[in-house]
Amino acid sequence: MSESGAPGAPGGMTAAVAFAGMRRVSPVVFKAGCPDCRGRFELAASALRLAIGATSRTTFYSFTCPECGSAVRKPAGERVVELLTGGGVRTLRLHSTV
Ligand SMILES: [Zn+2]
Repeated sequence: MSESGAPGAPGGMTAAVAFAGMRRVSPVVFKAGCPDCRGRFELAASALRLAIGATSRTTFYSFTCPECGSAVRKPAGERVVELLTGGGVRTLRLHSTV
């Protein structure tokens, strides 16, 4: 029970790691995975939505799984936000009421 070394390295970083590998200019696709059917696929920027809240906890991106149709929502860290906005993903800002 004393193995929890690395701070800031939560378990679910796979999406961020996948995004970090996608720095091509065009065409812009983002690798994503579905937690429901565990499918892995590439999504165009137009298939993704990014919602930016007042804090990182309310900042997330979402998409519809092309394999099972499930609505997937995942938290987006700063780097992911940069990649998504830089890739032309539609962005919603949720600041107003917090
Ligand atoms: Zn799925």
